[in-house]
Amino acid sequence: MRVLVTGAAGFLGSHLCDRLLKDEHEVIALDNLFTGFKRNIAHLLDRHDFEFVRHDVVNPIMLEVDWIFNLACPASPVHYQYNPVKTVKTSVMGTLNLLGMAKRVKARILQASTSEVYGDPQVHPQPESYWGHVNPIGPRSCYDEGKRVAETLMMDYHQQNDIDTRIIRIFNTYGPRMAVGDGRVASNFIVQALRGEKLTVYGDGTQTRCFCYVDDMVEGMVRLMMFEGEGCHEPVNVGSTEERSMNDLVECIAHVTGKKMDVEHQPLPQNDPVRRKPDITRAKERLDWQAKISLDDGLRHTVEYFKELLSDQVG
Ligand code: NAD
Ligand code: UDP
Repeated sequence: MRVLVTGAAGFLGSHLCDRLLKDEHEVIALDNLFTGFKRNIAHLLDRHDFEFVRHDVVNPIMLEVDWIFNLACPASPVHYQYNPVKTVKTSVMGTLNLLGMAKRVKARILQASTSEVYGDPQVHPQPESYWGHVNPIGPRSCYDEGKRVAETLMMDYHQQNDIDTRIIRIFNTYGPRMAVGDGRVASNFIVQALRGEKLTVYGDGTQTRCFCYVDDMVEGMVRLMMFEGEGCHEPVNVGSTEERSMNDLVECIAHVTGKKMDVEHQPLPQNDPVRRKPDITRAKERLDWQAKISLDDGLRHTVEYFKELLSDQVG
């Protein structure tokens, strides 16, 4: 297949490119380098089956491809709140442009959606049938509502224009190639631990997330893209089901790094979800998918990556 990956220089996108090339696809990697880095794909630039295009998905582009993975969108609260209007544009106009492309060239398209479509959920764990509890005018809305509209566009293009769509609802994912200044909890804690700083726990640290290692997530994305069975156009939750509080995560990082951690409590951001855990029945039944890599192992790989990155930066 000739595959377009948008957001390809980012954390998930760059790992997805690696995987698609390994599966012998040809990859066009598109990114505006807002939160992504060329270094994430530098090892691929010389390959004959890989091409990088610097482009913003808010603007239309003409490419001939068989598959589109639409990942372009800042994902960390710090980044998506930096320019909220642009975040909405990226999800809405970006998805529209790529659906237009899918329609013109009859490509299959997968949209990277998010657990944030459930907002601060009142149902636990969250199945795909849950409509969510999202504040439409809060600081997270530009991201949450943007992604919800992107899902709407995917379903409407499918129903109206018979576009071959897939929607993956990605739950918290971590791993190598997250940005040092990304602002998400896994990278924040690891970088702080390696620098000997206090770990910044927001609120009392009892809020929960389920952390999925990037290799498991990429496997889920590829499986969903290839799935052609009944209901293939419906959203599918993909994420770990190991629920951890931020206080637990501090302990895990202490365990993996073998250091004692000091903690500094900071205010809990507005509308920060209290609990989050995916119901992955659908992913299990339809994709035969569940996360395999333990938090300890995943954190170990991630700590190794950041150790090297930080020592390179110092050197
Ligand atoms: P990331 O910030 O590392 O990657 C996003 C990439 O998109 C970056 O390379 C950025 O430069 C690019 N981008 C942003 N706006 C763009 C635009 N207008 N045009 C072109 N490129 C643009 O984040 P990530 O964690 O790799 O997330 C990838 C996708 O997965 C996002 O759509 C995100 O919403 C979704 N997602 C991620 C997680 C997670 O835990 N990592 C969870 C839920 C959903
Ligand atoms: N968080 C934290 N310290 C940090 C960064 C985040 O305690 O340095 C908390 C944050 O308040 C949230 C959880 O960690 O409750 C996950 O935050 P992240 O930004 O990684 O993802 P999201 O909130 O989008 O799930």
